[in-house]
Amino acid sequence: MLKACQRNLAGIGNIYATEMLFLRGVSPWRSVGDVADLDALVELGRRLLEANKARIGQVTTGDTAPGRRTWVYGRAGQPCRRCGTKISKGEQGDGGEERIRFWCPACQR
Ligand SMILES: [Zn+2]
Repeated sequence: MLKACQRNLAGIGNIYATEMLFLRGVSPWRSVGDVADLDALVELGRRLLEANKARIGQVTTGDTAPGRRTWVYGRAGQPCRRCGTKISKGEQGDGGEERIRFWCPACQR
């Protein structure tokens, strides 16, 4: 994950970090120096957390229906909700749950 996310959003959880990067069109493999508007990314993370305070479970799409709660997280091999491209999945670093990445190769650059 981007170093900035680790620093500014420690504890936010992999699901939010993953979804934020999708919403901002940022590849999880980019280096932090490449992110044009880091403040916007951090702000988005705060809003996602805020929106989920009163909910059971984690929803980032605004749709609480089962199977429609996230944009890319947990959706490897399924079509991107924006463009239809298959969602990719990969691991970063030493593996483990917090290291698993989901992203749309077309929307996230
Ligand atoms: Zn896409």
